[in-house]
Amino acid sequence: MLPMVNLTDLRGALVWGEDFLKKAGVEAPELTTQLLLCHLTKFNRTELFLHLEEALSEIHRTEFERLVQKRASGFPLQYILGECDFYNVTLKVAPEVFIPRPETEILVEEVLTFFKGKEEGFVLDLGTGSGAIAIALAKNLPGARIIATDISVEALKVARENALRNGIDDRVLFCASDLFESLKNEVDTENRFDAIVSNPPYIAPSEKRNLPKEVRDFEPSEALFAEEEGLFFHRRIIGSAPTYLKAGVLLALEVALGQAKKVTGLLESASCFQEVRIREDLTRVKRVICSLRT
Ligand code: SAM
Ligand code: GLN
Repeated sequence: MLPMVNLTDLRGALVWGEDFLKKAGVEAPELTTQLLLCHLTKFNRTELFLHLEEALSEIHRTEFERLVQKRASGFPLQYILGECDFYNVTLKVAPEVFIPRPETEILVEEVLTFFKGKEEGFVLDLGTGSGAIAIALAKNLPGARIIATDISVEALKVARENALRNGIDDRVLFCASDLFESLKNEVDTENRFDAIVSNPPYIAPSEKRNLPKEVRDFEPSEALFAEEEGLFFHRRIIGSAPTYLKAGVLLALEVALGQAKKVTGLLESASCFQEVRIREDLTRVKRVICSLRT
């Protein structure tokens, strides 16, 4: 579609981009347009506003139109920008990995609270994706060693890059594995974990049609969907975790809206967990279930 306004300077580009995204029904059209222009021009947002009269080169103009249209088609902003913030780290994200969500920061907080005052810790992150949880933990727990698994070798490649980028690659070991599978012969009674944390896939396949296009059409489906009404991975994790955890230590799991009660029930019937606690996210969804191995 041809722009209706003067797209030769940054001010014109902002007006056109915002209008285009608004009409396409994209969330936060104003901020999105600013971030796309910052991405192209390498200005930060303050600099962008100080240079509104600056001309947009032909190359930038064409590229800007392409990116705005790409975002309008549903392609996630974070994949266009190539990075996102999570807890206090910045991570590379690409279509091979799930985009870390703010509610998952609760899992990080819970593990950090559990380790308060402790010098060391051995942590397992199951389904690490971009490495978000593992890397945020390593960054904030200087004495921790972490194993992070994922079934996707493409995701693990991105996660390893993120560990290098954040300078903690010497303390996080990334490992291709179907949940605990590759650890079976590595962990014995001398070598158990002090915490297991996971944000596994948890969307029931029947919910697929209700998901926003951004998620359904662009994020890896193996990061999203789980059989057994979304609880396939929680069941498996709760079943195996006792073998891999020391006594008295933490298991923290993220769940979807409506799953907290069932997951609490699974922990209780496993008879190896105590002090089951539920934490809500900012939208009051019961989002994280914590418990201690007996
Ligand atoms: N931990 C990351 C986060 O919170 O941003 C990613 C979470 S994403 C919802 C779930 C992750 O689990 C994906 O990276 C997916 O590839 C991985 N996964 C799916 N099936 C798995 C399996 N059987 N074993 C290990 N990881 C798996
Ligand atoms: N919270 C994610 C979403 O609905 C799903 C994450 C997951 O399956 N673990 O977009």
